[in-house]
Order: sequence, then structure tokens, then C-alpha cells
Amino acid sequence: MDRKNELAVRKKLNDVSPSFCLAKWYQVTIHLQNGQTHSCHHPHPHKVGMRELQENSTALHNTVWKKYQRYKMLKGERPAECDYCWKIEDSHADSISDRTFKSAEDWALPNFKEATTKPWDYDFTPRYVEVSFGHGCNFKCIYCAPHISSSIMAEFQRFGHYQESPEFDLDNLARTGQMPIPKDEWNPYVDAFWKWWPDLVPELKNFRITGGEPLINQNTFRFLDYIKSHPMPELIFGINSNLGIPDAQYDRFLDSMKYILDHKLIRHFEFYTSVDTHGVQAEYIRNGLSYKNYMTNVRKFLTTLPIDTKLVFMCTYNALSVPTFNEFLEDVVLLKKEFKNSQGEPRVILDMPYLRDPSYLSLAVLTDDFENMIKGSLTFMKDRSVEKLFQHWVFNDHEISKMERVYNWFVSLPKDGENVRKMRKNFFSFIREHDRRRGLNFRSCFPMMKGFYQICEDVYNNDSIDVG
Ligand code: SF4
Repeated sequence: MDRKNELAVRKKLNDVSPSFCLAKWYQVTIHLQNGQTHSCHHPHPHKVGMRELQENSTALHNTVWKKYQRYKMLKGERPAECDYCWKIEDSHADSISDRTFKSAEDWALPNFKEATTKPWDYDFTPRYVEVSFGHGCNFKCIYCAPHISSSIMAEFQRFGHYQESPEFDLDNLARTGQMPIPKDEWNPYVDAFWKWWPDLVPELKNFRITGGEPLINQNTFRFLDYIKSHPMPELIFGINSNLGIPDAQYDRFLDSMKYILDHKLIRHFEFYTSVDTHGVQAEYIRNGLSYKNYMTNVRKFLTTLPIDTKLVFMCTYNALSVPTFNEFLEDVVLLKKEFKNSQGEPRVILDMPYLRDPSYLSLAVLTDDFENMIKGSLTFMKDRSVEKLFQHWVFNDHEISKMERVYNWFVSLPKDGENVRKMRKNFFSFIREHDRRRGLNFRSCFPMMKGFYQICEDVYNNDSIDVG
């Protein structure tokens, strides 16, 4: 979307009210493991009450709470839960937030009339649905949480939460309605979802499955089987996977997707897979990962599915990604070169959201010494840019701008002060406990971060600031 269109959409929204956003009406992320919902994915999720669900079959999206936020938007009041957008809009008069970007999407803007003419408490049908069927996951990624991964839940049940992240205390999760329903127990939210499904389907434009790990959840296969007998030629389907699932399960997924794509039963397929750096360092971050098997599965995906199917690497760039990120980029370059679509473009794309929480694992904890490494990754990508090499298979502007954003953020961060000391103290105490629980050794896994780790240990030993 160009600037002119962005401004036109923003004006259209602002003519209703300066806080009006179609994502609140037409996009939903639902966490069926604990019955929470949010629109869009930026605000904190809130609970769908069991009574509400019994009375309203669309309550996984149309909760009383959400309807009230829509009411506020129509009246020009800013829902506090949308502060992600308000911060951006208040930073500069010209700043455009996701309120505009999301509202301009194909799943949102065509419904403008419906949203503005139907009553605020109407039960709207979402066009973009993201769902987690459960928290079952065989990985324990270092920055993940017990209500997202059953493996982390099991670890927390044994050892308790990390003192550096008290919000994940299991009692606190239970108190705040975030405790997942155990994965082998009957889940009324999953039932409610499938009951609602036939009403959802006719309007659905985008459907995305997250987790947990979706490829070990039977509901994912239920959806794939549904598509085989009920084609949805307008649907954009996306799924996230850790690609560390058993071979039989992976083959079953690839067979289904091949059938669906060969028979053009959906419009488009988006496959996202997570890895944050290279080799043993990636394995340390994403506990459960075998980097070698992971890359084998990436190749299997690219060789099995039709030539115009893409794979997006989701790299949650964090403090531990930095030292070996270039080696990962080298692997990406090889894949880009080897696997091209019918237009000669690479089938492998890099996306780099950067980690913000927990802050002690984010770039904010690092010392200045790491600037050259991050810059080195940016230079690596720029040296292999489309502009420089005039080749389709190298890094495009969008990928480079993501790395540039990471670098600029790092450079802008304070490198000392009380907050930074506290993060370094937390980094040391977290890693020490993490290694104890998992029988790992940070120093031997990250020899290039030994000096930094020593700094964190010294802060831990000398600092009188309380951890928390
Ligand atoms: S205003 Fe922003 S945070 Fe709120 S629903 Fe819209 S896009 Fe999401």
C-alpha cells in the first residue's frame, strides 16, 4: 500500500472516529487451551466465560468485553488495550499505526459498511482467524512460557517458575485464567470452536494455526481433512511449526498439503517455521531442536510441495542469536539459491521480529561489544542484496530492512544504567538456573559470549538491587 492509500484509509477510519479500527471487528486470535481471545493480537487476551460461551456460539470472538471496546471505538474513545497503536500514533502526527494497516487489508476494508451500520453489540463474523488448538509442544524455547508449551509446563511443575519472570508463576496463571486445560483432557473451547466452524467458513479469508506445536495437534489434521472434502478456493491458510515433529506426523502433514495444493483447494499457503540462529546455539535457544534434522525437514518441505510454495523463517532475534547469526544467514543463502519458484524468485524468506520479553534475553541486555557482530550480519545481507548482485535469489529490501531495524534498535539502546544492570543480573541468574534444570552449560555453548557472561556474573555478585 502506498502512502496515498494509507492516508485515504486513515481518513476513512477517522471519519467514523479517530480510534475506529476494523481489526477489532474482523480479526481474532483465540487461545483454545485456556479460552482466551483478543482482537487484534496486540492487546492482552481476555477470558471467554463459560456461561457466555453457552449463551452465544460466537463468543470466542464476540465477548461482552470486546463489544464494549468496539463501542468505545465508535464513540471516539481509545480502548486502553490498544496502546500499541496509540503510542505509534502519538509519536508523530504522520505516524501510521496498525489500526490503518490492518483495516486496509482485504479481510477488513470490504466490511467497512457492515461494521459502521450494524449495531455495536452485533455478533460479527471474523474474516481473519488465528487459532491455537492447544499448548502441546515438544520444545522448551528459552523465551517461551508454560501456557504456550506443555513441555515448559511440565518443567515448571517440577522446578517452579523462574524468579526473574514472576508472571509465569503457575498460581498466578491460574488466578488470571491463563492456566491451560491439560492437553489430554476434554476442552469445551475446542468443542465450541468446531461447533462455530460451519458459520465461520463462508466468510473466512485468512486462517492461521499456531500453538503449541500445531503439527502434533489432531485438530490441525481435522482442518486439513475438512479442506480436502470442502474446498475453500478463496482461503489464505497459514501455519507455524517448529519442524521438530516425528517423521510420520510430518509426512502426514506434507501429504495432506501436497494434495490440497495440487488440487488448488485453497488460494494460498503460508508456512512459517521458527529458528533464531545457527547450530548448537540455535539448539540451546530452542530446547528440543536438532539443527541438522531441522534443515533436513526444511529441504523436505521445499522438495515435496509445489514449486510456488514458500517457507518463511521466523527468527525471533534475541541476545543469543547474535554470535552465530551469520552462519545461519549462509545456510539461508544456500537455500535461496537452490530453491526458486516458477518466477525465479527464492522460495525461502527471512522474517525477523525481535524479542522484547523477557528483556534480560533481548538485545537490551548486551554490551557495546556486540554492535560489530550485528552490523556484520547487516553487512552480510547488504553485500548479497538484489540491488548489488541483480539476482533474485539474494536478500530483498524487506528482509534487509528487518535486519536494519534490529541494528538501529540495538544502537539506540542504553548500554548502562540501573535497568541495564538489573537485566544483566537477571540474565546471569536465569541462565544459571536454566542450565541447572536442563543439564546445559552456557559457557561451553557460547564461548564467544564468555566475557559478557562474566560481566553479568560480576553484576550479580556485586549488585544490591533486588531481582524481580
Ligand atoms: S487499534 Fe491497533 S491494537 Fe487495537 S485492534 Fe486495531 S490494530 Fe489492534
